[in-house]
Amino acid sequence: MSTGNSNVKPDFDVIGVGAGFAGLGLIHYAREAGLSIRVFDKASDIGGTWTWNRYPGAASDSECYYYCLTFSKQLLQEWKWSIRYPGWEENLRYMHFVADRCNMWPHITLDTKIAGADFQKNTGLWLVRTEKGEQFTCRYFVSAMGMISEPVIPDFKGMGKFKDPCFHSARWPQEGLDYSGKRIAIIGSGATTVQMLPVVAETAAQVTVFQRTANFVMPAVQKPITSEWDKEIKENYDKIIQKCRNHSFGMAFDSPVGRNLADTPPEEVEKILEEHWPRGSFRFVFETFDDLVVNAESNRIVGDFIIRKTLSKVKDPETRELLKPKGYPFFAKRPPLDHGYFEAFNRDNVKLVDINEREPIVEFTESGIRTTKNHYEFDIIVLATGFQAYTGAQEALPIRGQNGLLLKEKWTEVSASIMGVFVSGFPNLFMITGPQAPFANLPTSIEQNIKYIVDCIQKMQKEGFALCEPKRDAEEAWVAHTADIHRQTLMAQGDKVHSWMMGANLKDRNPRVLIYFGGANNYYDKLRDSANSGFPEVEFRRRA
Ligand SMILES: Cc1cc2nc3c(=O)[nH]c(=O)nc-3n(C[C@H](O)[C@H](O)[C@H](O)COP(=O)(O)OP(=O)(O)OC[C@H]3O[C@@H](n4cnc5c(N)ncnc54)[C@H](O)[C@@H]3O)c2cc1C
Repeated sequence: MSTGNSNVKPDFDVIGVGAGFAGLGLIHYAREAGLSIRVFDKASDIGGTWTWNRYPGAASDSECYYYCLTFSKQLLQEWKWSIRYPGWEENLRYMHFVADRCNMWPHITLDTKIAGADFQKNTGLWLVRTEKGEQFTCRYFVSAMGMISEPVIPDFKGMGKFKDPCFHSARWPQEGLDYSGKRIAIIGSGATTVQMLPVVAETAAQVTVFQRTANFVMPAVQKPITSEWDKEIKENYDKIIQKCRNHSFGMAFDSPVGRNLADTPPEEVEKILEEHWPRGSFRFVFETFDDLVVNAESNRIVGDFIIRKTLSKVKDPETRELLKPKGYPFFAKRPPLDHGYFEAFNRDNVKLVDINEREPIVEFTESGIRTTKNHYEFDIIVLATGFQAYTGAQEALPIRGQNGLLLKEKWTEVSASIMGVFVSGFPNLFMITGPQAPFANLPTSIEQNIKYIVDCIQKMQKEGFALCEPKRDAEEAWVAHTADIHRQTLMAQGDKVHSWMMGANLKDRNPRVLIYFGGANNYYDKLRDSANSGFPEVEFRRRA
């Protein structure tokens, strides 16, 4: 047990790591609660995801009007989006708008990597160290480090030999990179590549995509936000926010629709799918039928429809065959949205290489990549190899809890948490969208998490508690509940195809349950119920 001696005054009530949506939201709600707060980010700008991911074509897959923070009605009315899925520049401009208008800058320290955080038993405070050697204390330590912010860098033989630029897609040079007329390799074929390929192929001399797993891809249907649409959005913001709050994936969709594919006659199914396909976005999954991610046969039918629709765009039969997703159900991997991906393969300057079976990569060379069959020469290699989802950033930072255990060590086998927020053995540590939280429209989950965390802190402040210690039995119950739900979904098959949603894209660890699939809306209810009943998942301890 820790003493939590409250006589020692910390530098800040709250220290947050990360200045993306989560960090900015945290500043707002913490300040509103009268807490002192400082947020650190190793990046040179705020924006998180949107300052790091500057690759050509980088854009959100959530539609703009619900991919934002909702704490200020005024800001929602003032900001105008230009396009349905904003690119990184516009997302970043939006985040600057929020930080400027809410005067958040005094609470933000950039270019500062947090190098360690230790819970101090004698004071009950967290000691937070920066890479520059500074130290700060806080009572509440909050991870706003992002659920997909830590890149996965593959370890191909000879990677260091390649003499030209080679970088992860989330580390696209901040100053920009002139790739016109260049020969580009893209390793990986997930959401990043689906966005990047059509853009880079326009001016590159040649683009070669090295694919491990083909994806189910749905249409984005990008379009401008017209004045009429903007007006409609702004008149309906309360409803939009409510829809997100009550949706299983935190999105402003009209679902459940009250109909299952399994109970619908085939002609009617085809008609409904055809009708919804041109509308674009994840709506296709959620506004057609309610059983697509739970019923294997319904899933197969919609998967076949998607394959038919997308692959009919590809002229070359061999490429078409390679681009066909196989051996896993639709949504067992996070499906990307299409902005011209399949058409790009019809260009003379685009080539697809299957590195799963036909032509695995053997090594990098000084001038390119050698596979089992060929040597390809390149001027730029982009590692679009994804992220260590949910746990990556938190494991990269040594966070040491009550008994000297590192969070990374605690998560060796199971990435355990209570609702993705608390971890037993780590008092006064809070995570925004940590492991075993839902996979949803992130700003919705982020704001729900922050409100919950700040409510907990306010309770402690008001009632004179120095420590909140997450209970082990509550953690075991959440882990078991999350695993139980996971088993019942088709997403559990993601481990067959290296899905990051299960951490199956990592070499050095077992696939695991990282996501609560019981519905984001149900999860938000659970957060509310927990707050309303005084946070029964944690033990509060009084001041010594
Ligand atoms: C290309 C791309 C597109 C996406 N599109 C969508 C979408 O359409 N819809 C959706 O819901 N989600 C999307 N996401 C997920 C996205 O990460 C979230 O939407 C959201 O941006 C997360 O915000 P965050 O503040 O939690 O984390 P992030 O934006 O990831 O910010 C985390 C910050 O923490 C900082 N950090 C980490 N470790 C340290 C450390 N030790 N010291 C200091 N700073 C540290 C990082 O530098 C980073 O700036 C997308 C992600 C990517 C990569």
